[in-house]
Amino acid sequence: MSVTQQQVLDSLSRIKSPRGVALTNANVLSAISASDGKVFFSINVDAAEARAWEQVRAEAEAAVRAIPGVTTAMVALTAERKPGSAPPPPPSRGAPGVQQAHAHRPPQGGTSPMSRQSEIPGVAAVIAVASGKGGVGKSTTALNLALGLRDLGLKVGLLDADIYGPSVPRLTGLRDKPELNAERKMIPLKRFGLSIMSIGFLVEEETAMIWRGPMVMSAVTQMLRDVEWGKLDVLVVDMPPGTGDAQLTLAQNVPLKGAVIVSTPQDLSLIDARRGLAMFKKVNVPVLGIVENMSYFQCPQCGTKSDIFGHGGARHEAEKLAVPFLGEIPLHMAIRETSDAGKPVVDSEPNGPHAAIYRAIAGQIRDQLKSVISTG
Ligand code: ADP
Repeated sequence: MSVTQQQVLDSLSRIKSPRGVALTNANVLSAISASDGKVFFSINVDAAEARAWEQVRAEAEAAVRAIPGVTTAMVALTAERKPGSAPPPPPSRGAPGVQQAHAHRPPQGGTSPMSRQSEIPGVAAVIAVASGKGGVGKSTTALNLALGLRDLGLKVGLLDADIYGPSVPRLTGLRDKPELNAERKMIPLKRFGLSIMSIGFLVEEETAMIWRGPMVMSAVTQMLRDVEWGKLDVLVVDMPPGTGDAQLTLAQNVPLKGAVIVSTPQDLSLIDARRGLAMFKKVNVPVLGIVENMSYFQCPQCGTKSDIFGHGGARHEAEKLAVPFLGEIPLHMAIRETSDAGKPVVDSEPNGPHAAIYRAIAGQIRDQLKSVISTG
């Protein structure tokens, strides 16, 4: 049974805003994505009123979930500072010049910037895998590094926060919808020994989502906080590509212990990687290093290496910028085919050369996180 936007609007019309107006007349609703029983939308309110709206958000989510045929409902509360309203507290990690558009369910016990990026209970380290632009293999790298960390004996989760094009469903073959636990937190899906969550489990990968920064932030915050991650050594966050305001706000609001930047050797994407570095620097997140993906072409038949993109650019760049260079991953059919078939190479060819490369990079990441994760 398919659920229509009208059904969603009908159910929302019975909910009242804090000022007593029907939610559908309060001029706060984003476009509603309703497909295949999965409903997603946001309520956009003034930051000063966010607290009062949390109850409404919860009611709206419950009402939508109660519509017959709805399998998943996710309602994000986004709060924006409107011109003329009181400024928000300064960001703890200082991002001068960044338009504050923090969103979300105000944390218990205050809305200080610190509590906004409070640790996730049970998760020792959250790290981001980022890239200056799309298509450089960021998601492939994030998943294979997560598996590399798993192979080192760590408990690992993967959060696909690439809200513009979640690819983790494709890379893992997972299509199920997360179930809810007794506290109504989403239970991450399990595959390859990883705990995995993706916005793609909630909305269609193909759904064109033109989301504004605050909505991205809110959706990611919910996936971080409203998911029962359990006990993890490392949670790898596959960031949305790019270095715009949405990414910056995310980097600032997620309690990151470090970031890995993925780049191809071409000049253009190196420039983008440089922007990524600058972004994390701005928000005081340590860059654990740069990975050069599609570094050289390795002939599947003869094993000959060819530097089709001018290999080594990222290593050189990393040296110049004084950040660690973590390694080079070749452009290889095996990586592409396994990724696109939902069988990542570190898991499907654990004894092959590619798995060894990813594991070596994972080892360097683990070493840098040693002070926060227990490796015993
Ligand atoms: P991004 O997350 O940066 O958009 P993806 O991880 O989705 O990129 O990768 C884009 C495409 O490139 C996918 O088809 C993937 O299989 C392929 N790919 C990624 N890394 C490699 C590699 N090292 N060798 C071959 N193909 C790769």
